[in-house]
Amino acid sequence: MNSANTDVTVIGLGAMGGTLASTLLDKSHTVTVWNRTTDKARPLAEKGAKVAESAAEAISSSPLTVMCVYDYVAANQILAADGVGPALSGRVLAQLTTGTCEQSDQQAEWVAANSGRFLDGGILAYPRVIGDPDTVIVYSGPLAVFEEHSELLSSLAGSQRLVGDGSAATVVTTALWDYYFGALGGFLEAVAYVKAADVSIQHFQELVSPMTDQVLGGIADGARRISEADYSGEQASVDVHVDGMLSVVDEIHKSGVRADIAEAFLTYCQESQAAGDAKSDVASVVKILTANAPR
Ligand code: NAP
Repeated sequence: MNSANTDVTVIGLGAMGGTLASTLLDKSHTVTVWNRTTDKARPLAEKGAKVAESAAEAISSSPLTVMCVYDYVAANQILAADGVGPALSGRVLAQLTTGTCEQSDQQAEWVAANSGRFLDGGILAYPRVIGDPDTVIVYSGPLAVFEEHSELLSSLAGSQRLVGDGSAATVVTTALWDYYFGALGGFLEAVAYVKAADVSIQHFQELVSPMTDQVLGGIADGARRISEADYSGEQASVDVHVDGMLSVVDEIHKSGVRADIAEAFLTYCQESQAAGDAKSDVASVVKILTANAPR
């Protein structure tokens, strides 16, 4: 390994980490890489990356380390390796591995105890769009740390943003993936029904776009209502949604296709109805969902 310092270190060279490192190289940054399985570093070395022999050596090569491994169990194993704690002293770890708030908070504490600084991060994209202007990676942590490295990090995601302190990035990432997977699952469930009914998937697909505009309108209206606790039901009540969803679920079942996602939403609406919100706007379902949350 060349001992010269690099701009940034990337630890974890899987589908996502490898793309992060490759994108940083494409954007003319000097990059040190380390991966448990050394083979994965080879194509990056051919593009100019310096390959470290250990995680500690990798971290000490740059002021900023971006880590993106399978999960926090893997990330903590890497941090527990010889020399990693001292190597982090005075340096920044941007942790882009998916995990929980508790895992992120514990790791941030460990990094601070080793005199390092920590950014929690969440990638809201697939590898194919890393480096694009519209790609979003969210970060949380101290503003000064984010500002120090935001120019370099923007090479990974042109629409990156700081979303708060501590593990706020994990909260935002979890929420947006929940939304995304619900939407993707809803699409797959719906397209299965269209296919089973032997109607052209093309008609359905073309009309998904204007329907998605309706969803965006519903999200804007719902977000305002929830933040203002305004659940007046002048647009579409919970009752109306229950009635509509009963037909949707029944019709999908009759085609022989599963309707688990539609049924889940129907259940939320029925519970909201039973709790006294039958005439309220459908955004009032959030009251059922947060009933057992501590705050
Ligand atoms: P991946 O292709 O499976 O790569 C996993 C990486 O973790 C590899 O570098 C692997 O090293 C490393 N690893 C696993 N266990 C390890 C251990 N015990 N010690 C050291 N290294 C270990 O996964 P990925 O798709 O790159 O995902 C990485 C992270 O990005 C995940 O947290 C994922 O949720 C997040 N993410 C991924 C996507 C995506 O589209 N792929 C999108 C958003 C977020 P080896 O090569 O040695 O096995």
